[in-house]
Amino acid sequence: MTGFKIILKGNFARLEEIERVLGELAAYEARGDRPPTDLVRRLLELRGGDVSKPLEVLDIIDELSEGAALSQEEVARLHARLTKLTGVDYRRSSERPPVPGAGVIVIVSQGHYEKADGSNTGAEGVGGLQEFDVVTAVGESMHRNLAGRPGMEVHLAPRTNIGPQLELAAERLRANAEARLAFVDVHANAYPDPRARSTETWVSSEHSKSVELGVLIHENLLGALRRHDPEWRDRGIKYTAWAIMRSDKAVGKYGMDRQAFEERYYCVLPELGFVTNYRDAVILANPSVQQELGCAMAEAVATWGGV
Ligand SMILES: [Zn+2]
Repeated sequence: MTGFKIILKGNFARLEEIERVLGELAAYEARGDRPPTDLVRRLLELRGGDVSKPLEVLDIIDELSEGAALSQEEVARLHARLTKLTGVDYRRSSERPPVPGAGVIVIVSQGHYEKADGSNTGAEGVGGLQEFDVVTAVGESMHRNLAGRPGMEVHLAPRTNIGPQLELAAERLRANAEARLAFVDVHANAYPDPRARSTETWVSSEHSKSVELGVLIHENLLGALRRHDPEWRDRGIKYTAWAIMRSDKAVGKYGMDRQAFEERYYCVLPELGFVTNYRDAVILANPSVQQELGCAMAEAVATWGGV
């Protein structure tokens, strides 16, 4: 069940804080002590107007965490309730029916994931700015700006290493034999020389067809970033053969012919800017810029998909 906790962490930092405050309150209660007023006030603040919602989500996660005792139907029912409460689709990809008429499937990958010790696989930049935090916010914004558009099926990729992400891509392409799939793997750059800055966008040297999508994403990102820094540089479109772009033998393992997969798989990896550059970091750390970048990439994907 760690997968759910990781996904929820990205979306519900507040829930974890609630869990922590509740834990502290319970400790006072167990000792027979009266809890301090500011701790109680903090819980009320965190709960906000809708007291039941975050707590109900926690209850559902607890039920799911108990795991093996639940039948398939019970798990499906809990996933549906989570989705209704949070607006995020928590069903396993194999439980999801194809979206009728969806000509475009989009998978948004938030680049990095958390390790068991609480650290993450992303870069750290100026002033402790975490690539992980930037791509979490930008990815969520991109997902939100695309979700629900007609003709499109949109997913946030599992925050794991490459295997499960490709599995999701293969499953969704298998479920919808007509659709093209855009896989956008959002990153922010880092480099030992702090002068390195601005945006570059990677596409696969083995999938030149991805260039069209890469150019649209790249240009929209530059447009959005130059509103905040007119001298934001264009580092260009670059070519590579990274595993996430190569579809790899992993796809065959998940039941799809590699060639059939690659014909409909478009992969782009934008490096938004450098967390190690002071000018870039100030802009990338700004929550409203993060929202704009997600929106800019969503518009690029919608243009590419013709929806
Ligand atoms: Zn990265």
